[in-house]
Amino acid sequence: MLSKKELPTNTQYKHPKKIKGRFAPTPSGDIHFGSLVCALASYLDVKSAGGIWVIRIDDLDTPRLKDGASEQIIETLDHYNLISDEPIYYQSDHLATYREFLNDLIAKNLTYECECTRKRIRSIGGIYDNKCRNRKIKNGRTSIRLKINDQNEVNTFSDGIYGLQQKESYRVSRDFIISRKDDIPSYEYSVVIDDFIQEISYVLRGKDLIFSTFNQLTLQKSLNIDAPEYAHIPLVMNLKKRKLSKSDGALLDKKNFSMNLYLALELLGQNPVEELKSATVSEIINSATINWKRENVPKVFNKHAT
Ligand code: GLU
Repeated sequence: MLSKKELPTNTQYKHPKKIKGRFAPTPSGDIHFGSLVCALASYLDVKSAGGIWVIRIDDLDTPRLKDGASEQIIETLDHYNLISDEPIYYQSDHLATYREFLNDLIAKNLTYECECTRKRIRSIGGIYDNKCRNRKIKNGRTSIRLKINDQNEVNTFSDGIYGLQQKESYRVSRDFIISRKDDIPSYEYSVVIDDFIQEISYVLRGKDLIFSTFNQLTLQKSLNIDAPEYAHIPLVMNLKKRKLSKSDGALLDKKNFSMNLYLALELLGQNPVEELKSATVSEIINSATINWKRENVPKVFNKHAT
């Protein structure tokens, strides 16, 4: 594993060209059909290219965590033969590393403390106005934001499924939080550090995170570290046309692993052959790996979860 200390200063560090992907669930409950689709797609995408696939447990957001959920998720993925090629990485084991990279951003004068409440930001229309940029550092219990400027901002990227993405076509973004008021590294910040130290080269995840990718790329540029390639897949919706969530209930039929995999492959546009419905999990995974076509993944799933 790499540490920031080993990096040459002021040069862009490049990872060796190794294909490595990951699935990074938050243990706020067991995975549902939508997360299975995401885990499966990220697995097949790297495995079909001869790469390594790992599981990371995003367990920093303590208020959202549920006891036993990590074990449950790992066990569920195991039933689908979605097994990490490396020991499972837990974000909570890496707090010192997040601090180390944060010190680097502080030293580069790219951070500031912000006291603004959500209420204030809502009252100005929901988009942060960089109000605290010139505030003196008091080292109080405040959140820390990254300063976006012409040197570090990334406005475009090429998505492996949705093609060229431009920030202007999404909502305007402003300086974003990298360390929360409760001293927890933010999602956008921690994920960038993890992807870097785990040497992830391909990130495939749900489309709800596509906008966050601009901030993640901006952070990588600020830290002068290598960025993985990104691909986003459509979201599985519930009957109310909202992103399927853990609160939608137990939507994964625990007795029919093969059928769940078959349905996930169908949704991912992989046209699984009928016989796979009754094949074993390992037969389905093997066949799906050989036949995986990223270009067949649709931009919208035309079915909701039932
Ligand atoms: N932990 C995040 C989630 O469960 C996903 C992180 C990522 O894939 O970048 O939504």
